[in-house]
Amino acid sequence: MYRTHSNGELRLQDQGKEVKLVGWVQRVRNLGGMTFIDLRDRYGITQLTINEQADAEVKDIVGQLGREFVIQATGAVVERSSKNSKISTGEIEVIISKIAILNAAEVPPFTIEDESDGGEELRAKYRYLDLRRGPLRRAMELRHRMAQEVRCYLDSVIFLEIETPFLIKSTPEGARDFVVPSRMNQGEFYALPQSPQTFKQLLMVAGYDRYFQIVRCFRDEDLRADRQPEFTQIDCEMAFVEREDVLQTFEGLITHLFKSVLNVEFKEAFPRMSYADAMKYYGSDKPDIRFDMRMVELNDVVKGKNFSVFDNAQYIGGICTEGCADYTRKQLDELTEWVKRPQIGATGLVYIRLTAEGIKSSVDKFYIAEELQKLAALFNAKQGDLILILAGAKRKTMEALGSLRIEMGNRLGLRQKNVYAPLWVYDFPLLEWDDETQRFYAMHHPFTSPKPEDMDKFYSKDKEALRQVNANAYDFVLNGVEIGGGSIRIHEAKVQQRMFEVLGLNAEETAYKFGFIIDAFKYGAPPHGGIAFGFDRFCALFGGQESIRDYIAFPKNNAGRDVMLDAPSKIDEAQMKELGIATIG
Ligand code: ASP
Repeated sequence: MYRTHSNGELRLQDQGKEVKLVGWVQRVRNLGGMTFIDLRDRYGITQLTINEQADAEVKDIVGQLGREFVIQATGAVVERSSKNSKISTGEIEVIISKIAILNAAEVPPFTIEDESDGGEELRAKYRYLDLRRGPLRRAMELRHRMAQEVRCYLDSVIFLEIETPFLIKSTPEGARDFVVPSRMNQGEFYALPQSPQTFKQLLMVAGYDRYFQIVRCFRDEDLRADRQPEFTQIDCEMAFVEREDVLQTFEGLITHLFKSVLNVEFKEAFPRMSYADAMKYYGSDKPDIRFDMRMVELNDVVKGKNFSVFDNAQYIGGICTEGCADYTRKQLDELTEWVKRPQIGATGLVYIRLTAEGIKSSVDKFYIAEELQKLAALFNAKQGDLILILAGAKRKTMEALGSLRIEMGNRLGLRQKNVYAPLWVYDFPLLEWDDETQRFYAMHHPFTSPKPEDMDKFYSKDKEALRQVNANAYDFVLNGVEIGGGSIRIHEAKVQQRMFEVLGLNAEETAYKFGFIIDAFKYGAPPHGGIAFGFDRFCALFGGQESIRDYIAFPKNNAGRDVMLDAPSKIDEAQMKELGIATIG
């Protein structure tokens, strides 16, 4: 037996026991005649003590130890004189009588402690060493717990976990597919699934009316911050359901995860908001409702006073920031620069301060105090508040104001990590028009059904009518982050066919790419719907971190590379030939 206990296990009541421990040497401290070793494994750290009485052989081996050596040590558990309350084994130490080196280690390229001195790239290259560190280990443990709880809950409400294939047909809609050349069918390619969307729908046709899978998805997208080319979803589908059934079922799952993993309870049902309201009040389809600070549209109140910026704007709106009336000129200038950054894209910022000396604004030339008072009343603003206003093209300005709202929320400390504000957003537009390609794209995906009341518009030839069609789609948003999304699906072949027609596919293309699902719908497809949650992001949020990378054992970097493997990489000529492919350039 290599060990009798783990390094996180021994307590005061184990005093006097003879134990055998294994692990990695985190640190060796030599204090006069005594040597202390911090021995680490997955479960914790135990202090090993080598005192003057130790055998010469033991002392000799200890003298050879370096960081990250793998050792085995035998000794007696004793109470420590100087206790360490920071670690679970901090009340004891083990006085070593025997020690063996199981494997030596080169000096690691960075310190393997909770706070490491290694930069991100270096740690990524030696990910297996980074994974030894406490924060990553805890992230892996959290992820494991989440996965177990997902399975446990969904099993309890009779979902079946069913695996779907990774080598599938390329049908890009939305993101680009990763493709895999086929050796046995030269000149042809598989694609890796962007999600198991069509398979889970086929499982509904097959009669497995509650399906889930914790599944890898692959999307060849330009990597914006914190996206991974492969990521994990909790993918779910149900048959014979309406939106309400889906929302309630998964509210159950989310509530269970919060309770079992974080011990957080929700007293009330999750709030819900239409997409239209989310945009109107928060300038975002994923509002952070941990704080209020709603946007107010001001078009009717401010136009017609000869202030051309407002007169020429499609949309004028503002937010009221509590207690910020004492912002200095410098702070306001800095905020103006902030909204002008290309990512935000506003042209300027108008402010109104409600000070003890009265109302003061950057547009005093155009508006008398009474008019400004009236405007402030729309926000329920009180003395000490600061109103910030943006104006410009409608959608862009609303989004910019939404971003400013988030920024002010950050600055005012209103976005606390341990406060959780779940939200369902529903009734998204079905279609998005793309000027560049002059066609509609499905906002969610082409299997999402239009709302029944919009069916007439869905069959219309008029672009404007089509734009107005709402989808029976919903997102789950947590603290301003979209964690899940789903919809009630189309389950009739002719409606699905119409959808592809709207998306600009002709009958031939539709048959070639999606014939299998349209055919399936002809053989008794039940009404169905589902949802998928971004598992990595869910874990990161539960762990109180912004980046998903720490919650994935072996992630890729921002350029989509695995720097540990140095992948992607070239393959040799023979392999290319066998696959029947060649590269250009
Ligand atoms: N397959 C969808 C996605 O990956 C989720 C769903 O509609 O269930 O976004």
